[in-house]
Amino acid sequence: MKKATYQQTKQHNRDLVLRTIFAHESISRAEVARLTGLTRTTISEVVNGLLAEGLVEEIGRGESIGGKSPILLSIVSDSRYLIGLNLAQDKFVGAIVNLRGEIKEMVEVSVHDDDGEKALEAVYQIIGKLLRKKLRPIVGLGVGTPGLVNAREGIVVNAVNLDWRDLPLRELLQRKFKIPVWVLNDSQATAIGEFVYGGKTNHEDNLVVVNVTHGIGAGILINGRLFHGDGGGAGEIGHVVVQENGELCRCGKRGCLETISSTRAVMQKLNLNSLEEAQAAFESGNVRARQVVSNAAHYLGVSLASLIGTLNIHKIVISGDMACFGDPWLNIVKSSMQNAALTRLAENTQLELGKLHYRACILGASAFLLLDGYSLLFRQEI
Ligand SMILES: [Zn+2]
Repeated sequence: MKKATYQQTKQHNRDLVLRTIFAHESISRAEVARLTGLTRTTISEVVNGLLAEGLVEEIGRGESIGGKSPILLSIVSDSRYLIGLNLAQDKFVGAIVNLRGEIKEMVEVSVHDDDGEKALEAVYQIIGKLLRKKLRPIVGLGVGTPGLVNAREGIVVNAVNLDWRDLPLRELLQRKFKIPVWVLNDSQATAIGEFVYGGKTNHEDNLVVVNVTHGIGAGILINGRLFHGDGGGAGEIGHVVVQENGELCRCGKRGCLETISSTRAVMQKLNLNSLEEAQAAFESGNVRARQVVSNAAHYLGVSLASLIGTLNIHKIVISGDMACFGDPWLNIVKSSMQNAALTRLAENTQLELGKLHYRACILGASAFLLLDGYSLLFRQEI
């Protein structure tokens, strides 16, 4: 094994300390030492560097466990900013987010047709607007887009409703705006948002987040890292056929989960133009609406059972607009899931609704690099 250079070790220790401080609201140097296994001297040195850079601050004293009460450290929320974009169905939303996931500025652009050029223009427009705000330094930009994405190379392989095919989005945006960019599938971004900012997860946990909106996709985090799969398509459950010879899907196949369980499918089946109308019909007890929504919930539950059988991950969060149908919908999803999965596995699986709604995708897109090392936070020149 090659011996790590002094510089590499220093960088590694810094990442480790920063990650540990980031994962806690506040923490003492002694606790950082205990959690990282680094010596007190090393911690002292690294923390001094972080204090000097303004990334970390001392925020008073904690409770004493014998002896002097320790000084607590915390990340300075507004020391760096990130931009997150959610390219949702009828509108693109972008926000400037601080290191604690607080949205500081937000802009929206409506998108009406599926012209690929216009969609790209709308992305440029939204980023331009955000960069004109005064918040600095902005250290990176994350985009959550529907469709199949090669996140490693930042290429949108295929996004049907945006009319994008093999679009090198990262390269285009980096060239235009001169900041680091990463591109993720919207469900994967939503999963990261729920993981980092939805609460109740530790940074090594596993989590599945299923995003049910106009389309359906899942984001899978294993040991706190997004699992992309070999072709970037891990979690693409929306285009798995669940009903043979079912309705024609926009992907060209018949009977995909999306043709039954997405908001798009529900509106189409009810001949309605908005989800609000569908929700109203459902809540007023309209028989057809009840039937369509129950069916949507049922097939979603069956698909979740496959995820349980494949991954055996104990926590599944459902996010997205379909959640507007509330508990009656969620309960059917749950019972279908339990009926279709191996009982012992299903018993131990927690299914709950996400807490961040549309913000999950924006926050997750912005936070992606916070999970994979903290390299972005070290950039000072922007
Ligand atoms: Zn399909």
